[in-house]
Amino acid sequence: MPRILILGGTTEARILAGRLGSRPELDVTMSLAGRTASPAPQPVPVRVGGFGGREGLADYLRREGIDALIDATHPYAAVISANALAAARDAAVPVVVLRRPPWTAVAGDCWTLVDGVADAIAALGEAPRCVLVTLGRGELDPLVAAPQHHYLIRSVDPVEPPLAVPHAKYLTGRGPFAEADERALLTAHGIECIIAKNSGGTATYGKIAAARALGLSVIMLRRPTVPAAAAVDSVEDALAWLDHALAPAAARGV
Ligand code: NAP
Repeated sequence: MPRILILGGTTEARILAGRLGSRPELDVTMSLAGRTASPAPQPVPVRVGGFGGREGLADYLRREGIDALIDATHPYAAVISANALAAARDAAVPVVVLRRPPWTAVAGDCWTLVDGVADAIAALGEAPRCVLVTLGRGELDPLVAAPQHHYLIRSVDPVEPPLAVPHAKYLTGRGPFAEADERALLTAHGIECIIAKNSGGTATYGKIAAARALGLSVIMLRRPTVPAAAAVDSVEDALAWLDHALAPAAARGV
């Protein structure tokens, strides 16, 4: 029975696992990093925790007899994506990246593109501003360098201990977030600017649309560069790739 490993942590990975998990001829495992305290339930068996870099993942692929690897991690999870590609090459396992397309700015958007959180904080300027920050709890240290701002920080897990800044409020939440709710949140907190990742998809786009409607600026972290690989941008295309990868060589015209 073909064994499939999905590197997950995203909505797409969960949807893909649901589609594959309903196929009795496949043995599908989802791998999660183990970052969140209460991860969303998964429709297939789950393994949790790092593999130990490129070599550890290559060993896992060989040891478990994995026939195809699908990297469906978040677009900003650059380390695991690079390791996945290299490990799959080392272990001679077919690999594809499932990555949702980025958002693109449309008329009315006011985006400043930056390369990292420290650059995002610098882009806020010296004058105090009210900022919604939608980053992971492990990415917030650069905020401490700019304590003059009023931060509203939303993350999946609580930020503990809180940041060493005098003006910070914390929210926990996991998308999807509706545009109307985002608009109400931004207005209620007098938000002037949002710091966000270009995650793509619909679940977290509400804040971007709400910012546009309210005339607020968005400081957008550019996506990290990851090594070139076979890539698809939808679950349907990932399923098609997998069927092709698992087909006998003759059927693939090899
Ligand atoms: P990262 O920086 O690319 O990876 C750091 C290390 O975490 C990897 O080297 C690997 O450890 C381990 N790891 C990451 N994803 C894994 C997975 N699916 N299964 C097993 N080990 C994994 O990753 P990250 O940005 O911290 O993201 C961690 C997870 O959260 C990812 O699965 C991602 O899909 C999800 N996520 C990330 C973001 C984001 O903004 N970065 C947002 C939403 C969800 P070893 O080297 O020991 O193998």
